[in-house]
Amino acid sequence: MSASTESASSPALSTLRRVFGYPAFRGEQQAIVEHVSEGGDALVLMPTGGGKSLCYQIPSLIRSGCGIVVSPLIALMQDQVSALKLLGVRAAFLNSTLPPEHASVIERELLEGELDLLYVAPERLTTPRFLQLLAQAKIALFAIDEAHCVSQWGHDFRPDYIQLSVLHERFPGIPRIALTATADQATRGEIVERLALQQARVFLASFDRPNIRYTVVEKDNPRRQLLRFIRASHDGDSGIVYCLSRKKVEETAKWLREQGLSALPYHAGFDAATREAHQTKFIRGDGIIMVATIAFGMGIDKPDVRFVAHLDLPKSLEAYYQETGRAGRDGLPSNAWMAYGLQDMVLQREMIEQSQAPDEIKRVERQKLDALLGYCEAPSCRRQVLLRYFGEDSEPCGNCDMCLSPPETWDAAEAVQKALSTIYRSGQRYGAGHIIDILRGRETPKVKERGHENLSTFGLGSAIGDAQWSSLLRQCVATGLIGVNEHGGLILLEACRPVLRGEQGLQLRRVRDTHAAAPSVRRE
Ligand code: ADP
Ligand code: ZN
Repeated sequence: MSASTESASSPALSTLRRVFGYPAFRGEQQAIVEHVSEGGDALVLMPTGGGKSLCYQIPSLIRSGCGIVVSPLIALMQDQVSALKLLGVRAAFLNSTLPPEHASVIERELLEGELDLLYVAPERLTTPRFLQLLAQAKIALFAIDEAHCVSQWGHDFRPDYIQLSVLHERFPGIPRIALTATADQATRGEIVERLALQQARVFLASFDRPNIRYTVVEKDNPRRQLLRFIRASHDGDSGIVYCLSRKKVEETAKWLREQGLSALPYHAGFDAATREAHQTKFIRGDGIIMVATIAFGMGIDKPDVRFVAHLDLPKSLEAYYQETGRAGRDGLPSNAWMAYGLQDMVLQREMIEQSQAPDEIKRVERQKLDALLGYCEAPSCRRQVLLRYFGEDSEPCGNCDMCLSPPETWDAAEAVQKALSTIYRSGQRYGAGHIIDILRGRETPKVKERGHENLSTFGLGSAIGDAQWSSLLRQCVATGLIGVNEHGGLILLEACRPVLRGEQGLQLRRVRDTHAAAPSVRRE
């Protein structure tokens, strides 16, 4: 049998070509499609843009009955269903936006075997009434999209997802495929456990997004840094700028507009019509910069987002990966850019320590924060750090800031000793700003009020600049020499002892001159 007749005889491939018009599968798609078509359960871990949808759409078409797709995203459901209908697939969705009379038409179609794919919101699927309906219909498979939503510690937790284990109990013979772009070990374990997917075959695609260039800059004047970055690399491009608070979203969007850029704000505080309008402009328009909280982005399928910028630290490394994954879905060169500073780190630590969460959750959150800081402070390839977090080994990528201009290091042991003893002598309760004032010998009102000009380390660090000091402190916090108390004060940790005693050398990254890349014309 020749290769072409062999492939033509595969129902998976012929469906791919006939219905979707694509010549070939990507990566593991074919293995997944065949496994599920034959009735197997699957857990699919694939990065955003990797092509997860086909993994359940094609088996739904091959198997008899209707594929039921659980998705938390109403906008995404509608888009997917419209796209499928254009391809001639009998697809529909059921969610709260649908008038009841439409819903009952779709339910009847389901019962009469007139649907290939039905997208359902999780809260609807798990109602007794709907489960009853499913029991009377012919079901091809269950697809659980965005499966990480079952993770209570994740950033997209949806309580309704927990109920989805009912599918396994009520419909044990029907294959289930869970899909997500979040693949850290903990989340993976939780998905398997909560959805009872112990028997599922796991398909883990590479999480590398080689076309994305990762860069982290030290926060100096973040808005101006952002503007420089956009002007230097993304004139007229579409991009997303993430900020932590709604207020900052609005201020940043306004400021960028004042600088002549087409920026729009987006956060959950706007009414639905405004959100929808901004989102549509972003998706349809060219060169719009969406300044947003993390409320924006999940399920946004815009292939030509050229950059994702973070003005604040994301929640975790997997959140960062997801958020930056919205760049470059078309495979063309794109940037993931983040401005990051000591204050961000302190703020995140405070948020964890001050939260009412149980200790166990705090412990996980601390670990996640440490992983994130490890990325920000990485002395080597960012992509390696990122991929290692997802369990993947790789070579230095040649396409991140660290690979492209390797950092200079310096022997900082003596400077670190000065900083540590300043923290110690001032009572382990002051933030970085005050510690740096003492080291640099500044007689600020606060320094004088506390009598800190009399400390033996006062002015001992005047030869080192503020940015270098703040980078040094940050690296010490990131590497666990220095801790942060619940009020943001710096404290000494056990690991700093050998350094204090001069027993241990310490190579730290020298701060980059963040102004070096600035365009010569400044349009203030
Ligand atoms: P994900 O859900 O993993 O983020 P999608 O399923 O939305 O990704 O797919 C991303 C894009 O890649 C879509 O535009 C899709 O049509 C396209 N795509 C997926 N699989 C293939 C393939 N085998 N050949 C060509 N294009 C594909
Ligand atoms: Zn690299």
